[in-house]
Amino acid sequence: MLPCLLLISAVAFGQKDAQPRVVDPGDGRKAPSDAVALFNGRDMTGWITKDGKIPKCEVEAGGVMACVTGVGDIQTTQTFKNAQIHLEFAIPYMPNQKGQLRGNSGVYLQGKYEMQILDSYQNPTYAHGSLGGLYNQAPPLVNAARRPEEWQTYDFIFRGPECDTAGKVTKKAVVTVLLNGLLVHDHVAIDASEKLGAGCQAGPILLQDHSGFKDAPITKMKFRNLWLRELD
Ligand code: MG
Repeated sequence: MLPCLLLISAVAFGQKDAQPRVVDPGDGRKAPSDAVALFNGRDMTGWITKDGKIPKCEVEAGGVMACVTGVGDIQTTQTFKNAQIHLEFAIPYMPNQKGQLRGNSGVYLQGKYEMQILDSYQNPTYAHGSLGGLYNQAPPLVNAARRPEEWQTYDFIFRGPECDTAGKVTKKAVVTVLLNGLLVHDHVAIDASEKLGAGCQAGPILLQDHSGFKDAPITKMKFRNLWLRELD
């Protein structure tokens, strides 16, 4: 009788489950042990411009990547379909600009879907175009913007679209987003990009250079501690 009770209690308390894999979570400067560090803090290895060149971003002390308008969009050589992604960014103080011209950049998931970066501290603009917005699709749940020049964090849980053998989407991409630790998108389905399609294939992380837009000012965006954990 006793062994039977022990077995029942072991199953009831989940002791049949495999132990979780041990992962060093990092310390806010170092990526978790099972992540791909997207920026090594020393040079632009792992990043390319759209025409395949090494981006001319500056690398500053403290493992900071600083990209000035004119460098162009830059993207990771690493591609992914499903991933947890973390990055930190600092937007310059641009008091002479407003709306979409004040500190505009963006993180394109799979190189297709823009999570907006903008100075949204006391800088109103249309909702889906503010910091935390899924551009053209969904505004953030809250405005969790810090002041310009302060470091901010973005965390994404992204699952790319599922497609049939003909490349037709059978399930849309889905994203959950934390901005500065606060939930701004809760398992939101993403429509295919008008210009770039749905993306059944793996894609990169792309960081936007907002030059090329009308009246776009010189903007120096800083990034650090960028990492990605592929999900099954
Ligand atoms: Mg943008």
